[in-house]
Amino acid sequence: MTPVKQGSIRLFRLWGIEVFLHWSWFLVAIYSISTRVPKYQSPLWGVLEYLTLFLIVLMHEFGHVTACRRVGGQSDEIVLWPLGGVAYVAPPSRPGATLWSIAAGPLVNVALLPVLIGLAYLDLRAGWRQQFPDLHTFIRTVAIMNVGLLFFNLLPVYPLDGGQILRALLWFPFGKARSLMIATVVGFLGGAGLVGLAVAQSSVWIGIMAFFLLSYCWRSFQQARALLKVERLPRRPEFACPDCRSSPPTGNYWRCKQCAQPFDPFASGAVCPQCGAVHEVTFCPDCGCARALRSWDKSILDA
Ligand SMILES: [Zn+2]
Ligand SMILES: [Zn+2]
Ligand SMILES: [Zn+2]
Repeated sequence: MTPVKQGSIRLFRLWGIEVFLHWSWFLVAIYSISTRVPKYQSPLWGVLEYLTLFLIVLMHEFGHVTACRRVGGQSDEIVLWPLGGVAYVAPPSRPGATLWSIAAGPLVNVALLPVLIGLAYLDLRAGWRQQFPDLHTFIRTVAIMNVGLLFFNLLPVYPLDGGQILRALLWFPFGKARSLMIATVVGFLGGAGLVGLAVAQSSVWIGIMAFFLLSYCWRSFQQARALLKVERLPRRPEFACPDCRSSPPTGNYWRCKQCAQPFDPFASGAVCPQCGAVHEVTFCPDCGCARALRSWDKSILDA
């Protein structure tokens, strides 16, 4: 999803991860807390419930970020906004690394299941329902919210975690471009289902969510088409990306950083034929990494 980072305030920094909060969160928080308060005798529990929801969302996002870093990817930002949280993750362009970075989020909710079930069991055994009715309602609601978040996130609607997990799984047999193509097509179907659900339930929330998912899905579909085009270009088998191991296409698909003219660094030895600028790094069109030209040499890579 694409919340605007402008309009977000920086909350704190933990383990080098910056956590931001979008201004619209406050509007929704006021509304959402006001709907929760009547369930409790003391209104403070309504506030606590909403904050707990966001704590769970935050832990989920930290799951993505830590997993992404573990597999050697880059991730250092989380933005919380009314529709949940977004962790900006850039795992290495490999299906396994991507799968782990995405699956780690829902796994946090899975890890919370026994904790919350344990609390609910304790609540039942100790008879808190009579003694501390607010605590009882709180535990029950938080346990249900966690399960709800888990199921929603696992819907195979790209870019929800479920859709991205599907994509990473399809990546193994179908490759980077085609897996994204299939996942976004499945995403359109799922998104259409959400629109139907929004109408049937006359839910503005589901409607807004479906709109965001479908517009993101559409952009990813275009990205898949562009990736497929790149994939079909003729390649130079004597070179391979040190990161993703795919061979570079033959042709002027790179742009000189100095004179902006297109050129082929693999034909010219990373020297621009127009202006003579020497490029220390060459970008990989498949995974986006930037590495010195000599590290692309397959005879060195395989040695
Ligand atoms: Zn997630
Ligand atoms: Zn140049
Ligand atoms: Zn690459």
